[in-house]
Amino acid sequence: MPPAPAADPTAMNGENLRWKKFPVLDDGFVTLVDVMGTDASVVQAARVSYGEGTRKVSDDRQLIRYLLRHAHTTPFEMAELKFLVRVPMDCWRQWVRHRTANINEYSTRYSLAIDSMQATQDDGWRSQATHNRQGSAGVLTVADGHPLTQSEQELQSLARRVYEERLAAGIAREQARKDLPLSTYTEAYWKIDLHNLLHFLALRMDSHAQLEIRRYAEAIGHEIVARLFPLCWEAFLDYRFNALRLTHLDQGVIQRLATAGSLPADRQAFLAAQDETWAGLERCREREECLAKLISLGLVTEG
Ligand SMILES: Cc1cc2nc3c(=O)[nH]c(=O)nc-3n(C[C@H](O)[C@H](O)[C@H](O)COP(=O)(O)OP(=O)(O)OC[C@H]3O[C@@H](n4cnc5c(N)ncnc54)[C@H](O)[C@@H]3O)c2cc1C
Repeated sequence: MPPAPAADPTAMNGENLRWKKFPVLDDGFVTLVDVMGTDASVVQAARVSYGEGTRKVSDDRQLIRYLLRHAHTTPFEMAELKFLVRVPMDCWRQWVRHRTANINEYSTRYSLAIDSMQATQDDGWRSQATHNRQGSAGVLTVADGHPLTQSEQELQSLARRVYEERLAAGIAREQARKDLPLSTYTEAYWKIDLHNLLHFLALRMDSHAQLEIRRYAEAIGHEIVARLFPLCWEAFLDYRFNALRLTHLDQGVIQRLATAGSLPADRQAFLAAQDETWAGLERCREREECLAKLISLGLVTEG
């Protein structure tokens, strides 16, 4: 059994983390406003259910790991975190899909829109992924990126100028804002319990999430949650974020490869052992996902 992580007296806690700004993107940030609870709160909540009698057989770390492994969710809901975040609006649009948080956002009906738009650097333009219609793949070269950076600057400047002209003409802020680009930064308070925050982080730190929101999720996870809830964080990484889920069909493929004695398998052996419902399909996303899992486990060789 690995030893419990040693307590670090210089480690950041809820007190010295509060209001510390963690920069994200070119002008965004996440900052912790408030936190209720620690790893101990999760344990305390769980022991109401399991009773003190379990203490001898299960220390706090083991209990947290057990809870997370077996999706016992409510003890993690006993801890709450409140953040102030500054995010481009397109990223925020993805963020607010997570319905289990409480939000108060900066009002551009009431106040002037924040005079900052997320700008892309020359080497920050990503090409469209061919295998995943939602994703991006690699970056364009600097030579390719430069004109795009230039036109983005022009567009953002024009949009801001038009916005300010409308305000100067006496147009209401709620209408003047309508042509501001989605790259405009907004700010919001965002409060969420630890269970739903871990769910958010699992989805938004994942490589399938858009890079911009991933950067925010990584800052929240690594800079804040990891420090405030080290045991929960460790269990989250082990049993959720870095875990690999084998479906019933995946297990069948592995069993057939093992029975045939062809492990590690090459691609041809993998195809011979694939699920029968995939076999007739020229393209099959589930088969590709299974192959990727088996390659990551060293059960199938690449190539
Ligand atoms: C990589 C990626 C790509 C995406 N692509 C798209 C897309 O193309 N189009 C699109 O529209 N969205 C897209 N989304 C958004 C996605 O479908 C979810 O809306 C978003 O991730 C919020 O997830 P959630 O509902 O689990 O989280 P939350 O809203 O925080 O909810 C957490 C959990 O609470 C429960 N819950 C919350 N509200 C309800 C409810 N009303 N009824 C029942 N259970 C509830 C569910 O179990 C849910 O999983 C994408 C998300 C990701 C991560």
